[in-house]
Amino acid sequence: MRLYYPDLLPDCQIELTGEDFNYLKNVLRAGTGSKVSLFDGKGNSAQAVITGVYPNRMTVRTESVSASVETESQLKTVLLQGMLKGQKMDLVVQKAVELGATEIIPVITVRAEVRETRKIDRWKKIAQEAAKQCGRTVTPEISGPLAFKDCIKGFPAGVIFWEGGGYSLKKAGIHKTHAELAVAIGPEGGFTEDEVSLAKESGFCVCSLGPRILRAETAAIAALALVQYQFGDLG
Ligand code: SAM
Repeated sequence: MRLYYPDLLPDCQIELTGEDFNYLKNVLRAGTGSKVSLFDGKGNSAQAVITGVYPNRMTVRTESVSASVETESQLKTVLLQGMLKGQKMDLVVQKAVELGATEIIPVITVRAEVRETRKIDRWKKIAQEAAKQCGRTVTPEISGPLAFKDCIKGFPAGVIFWEGGGYSLKKAGIHKTHAELAVAIGPEGGFTEDEVSLAKESGFCVCSLGPRILRAETAAIAALALVQYQFGDLG
């Protein structure tokens, strides 16, 4: 069991309360002397030992703190995801973290039906939980929402997935040497042709996910898996 704690220092006493406390005490039945693993979401892990158990809190002392990024892909992947309705973004955030995305930017596109959100903090929490579950020490950043046209500039390489046709990812002219890749997926209604052209002008390659039209959330998951397979750590 790994717990998230944002400020890890060696040989430091920290307090665990709330969900973490309940989980350790009531589910794992951990007590004084039990070992706990912690990560800070910035690439550091720590081994720690429980030093005290009280009615509503536990004290824990960190032993070693080390930078550990073995579960991070060498490819920095930024997912630009058209804003989706209902709870679909929750799913995309969770799966994007599991598939190694480094940053997730919800984007407002011409056809997005959702144009603003108060869910950024919720998505950050989902990202943190997903990082914890899948063994990552880095929690991907989630910012925005930003206008699609404003955030597609400045990437060393980018791919926009469009059901209107395009290259297979293999033939997209993306090289393994690109350390960072932006991956754009549209909302339920898809990208407009103007948005696809704009992305092309900004250096994005237009790519296909095959002959069937996938739901946006399926497309995001499939695209990230393919990208990691082709250029990241799933190959
Ligand atoms: N505009 C479409 C429509 O309403 O018929 C559907 C858009 S699709 C549900 C949402 C997003 O998933 C698209 O903007 C695209 O990024 C991605 N997508 C879905 N199927 C795809 C495919 N076969 N090839 C490439 N991208 C796809």
